[in-house]
Amino acid sequence: MDQKTSRVTIVGAGFGGLLAARTLSRYPVQITLVDRKNFHTFQPLLYQVATAGLSPGEIAAPVRWILRDRRNVEVLMSEVRDFDLSRRVVKLEDGEIAYDYLIVAAGASHAYFGHDEWEPFAPGLKTIEDALEIRRRVLLAFELAERQAASGKGQTQLNFVVVGGGPTGVELAGTLAEISRQVLANEFRTIDPKRTRIVLLEGGPCILPAYPEDLSRSAEEQLRHLGVEVQTSALVTRVAPGAVQIGETRLPAAVTLWAAGVAASPLGKKLGAPVDRAGRVLVNPDLSLPGHPEVFVVGDLAALKDESGKWLPGVAPVAMQEGKATAHNIGSELRGEPRKNFHYVNKGNLATIGRAAAVAEFGKIHISGFLAWLSWLFIHIFFLIGFRNRLIVLIQWAWSYLTYERGARLITGDTHLPGWNELRTEETQAHTAAD
Ligand SMILES: Cc1cc2nc3c(=O)[nH]c(=O)nc-3n(C[C@H](O)[C@H](O)[C@H](O)COP(=O)(O)OP(=O)(O)OC[C@H]3O[C@@H](n4cnc5c(N)ncnc54)[C@H](O)[C@@H]3O)c2cc1C
Repeated sequence: MDQKTSRVTIVGAGFGGLLAARTLSRYPVQITLVDRKNFHTFQPLLYQVATAGLSPGEIAAPVRWILRDRRNVEVLMSEVRDFDLSRRVVKLEDGEIAYDYLIVAAGASHAYFGHDEWEPFAPGLKTIEDALEIRRRVLLAFELAERQAASGKGQTQLNFVVVGGGPTGVELAGTLAEISRQVLANEFRTIDPKRTRIVLLEGGPCILPAYPEDLSRSAEEQLRHLGVEVQTSALVTRVAPGAVQIGETRLPAAVTLWAAGVAASPLGKKLGAPVDRAGRVLVNPDLSLPGHPEVFVVGDLAALKDESGKWLPGVAPVAMQEGKATAHNIGSELRGEPRKNFHYVNKGNLATIGRAAAVAEFGKIHISGFLAWLSWLFIHIFFLIGFRNRLIVLIQWAWSYLTYERGARLITGDTHLPGWNELRTEETQAHTAAD
C-alpha cells in the first residue's frame, strides 16, 4: 500500500476517535473524521451542565477547531448509517466515504432494559441535549411547586429519583442534594427546597459496584451525609409518569433520571462481527475486527478483556489509549512493522459524589472525601479540551465552592414537566381519601 495515499476514515469524534485522529495526523496518511455533531463533548462533566453548574460551551468544543492545525485531517459532520466492508466504504446519510483503514469509535448510550417506553419519563445523561433536558426538568419542578404552593393549592412533596448507582447516578444524586440543600435553600418564599427527597436506587447490593468494597461503602456514607437516600437491591420494575415502581412499592417522583444500563452504538452490529449483550463488538487483541484487519473498533463500542481476563471498562482513558494504540498500529504497518496487541495502563479510578466528596483508587491506595475530590477536579480539568475552557471551569468551580452559587440555572425550551399532572392528581386523590 502506498503510504502517501492511504486513507483512514474515523467514525466518532469522542475520546477514542479524537485521540486516533490526533495521533495519526503525524503519519503520512489522509484522514477523514466523521461525527454527527460538530463538537466533541467532555462527558465526565455533563452532570455539571445537567445540574446548572456549567454551560454547554464550557465542556464541549468544535471538532474542526480542535483539529485546525492538523492539515491532513478533514472533518465532516454527518450521520454514519452503515458500512460496506467488501467495497471498503462508509455509508453516510447522503453519500459514501472510501477508506483503506477504518476506525469505528461511535461510543455507547443508555439502555432501558427493553423498556424504551420509560425514556420520556426518565431521561438519561449522554449528550449535551440530555443534560439541558435534565436541567430544565429539575429547575422546572421547583418552579411548579412554588407556583402551586403560592396560589394556595398545597405543597407537593418533591422527590427526585435517580435510577442506577454507578458513577453517573452517584454524581447526579450528590449534586441534586447540594442544589436543594444549599444552592436554592433561601431563594423560594413558599416552598422549602431543603425538604426535597433525593433517592438513589441501585438494583445490586452496593453502589459503585466496580470499585473496591471500602470505597463503595464510603461513597454511600458520603451520599447520606449530603442528604441522599440510598436504596440498594432496589430493582425498578416500572417507570410511569410521576412515579417509579420498585417491586410492590410505588415511589412518587417529580423528576426521574436514568443512569442504569449501557447499550453500544447500533453501528457495532452493522460491522457484521459478533457482539456482546450490550452490542459491543468483540474485537481481536489488536482491536481489529475479526476477519477484517483493516477495520478497528475502539472505545465504548469495543469489547476486549485485559491480561487478567476482566473486561475493560467503558471509561475515557480506555477509549483514549485504544485510539492512540490503533493509530500507532496503522502507522507501524505502513512502515512495514508488525502490529502490537493493546495493553491498557490503568492509572486509577475516580468517582465524584458532590461538594468535597469523592472516592479514588490508585492501585492499592484508596482515598475518600476532600482529597479524592481535589484529585478528581484537577485531573478532569486537565483533560478538558482548550486552555480557555480549563481556566473558566476552574474559576467557576472555585466560585461555586465558596459561594454555593450555580450560574447556569436557566430554564429553556418548553415549560411542561412530564409526569407533573399525574403526580398532582395522585396527591390530590390521596388527600381526599385521607379527609
Ligand atoms: C455522564 C457520563 C459521565 C462520565 N464520566 C466519566 C468519568 O468521570 N471518567 C471517565 O473516564 N469516563 C467517564 N464517562 C465515560 C466516557 O465518557 C466514555 O467511556 C468515553 O466517552 C468513550 O469514548 P468513545 O470515543 O468510545 O465514545 P464517545 O466519547 O461517546 O464518542 C462517540 C462519538 O461518536 C459519535 N457518533 C455516534 N454515532 C454516530 C453516527 N452514527 N454517525 C456519526 N457520529 C456518531 C458521537 O456523536 C460521539 O461524538 C462518562 C460517560 C458519561 C455518559
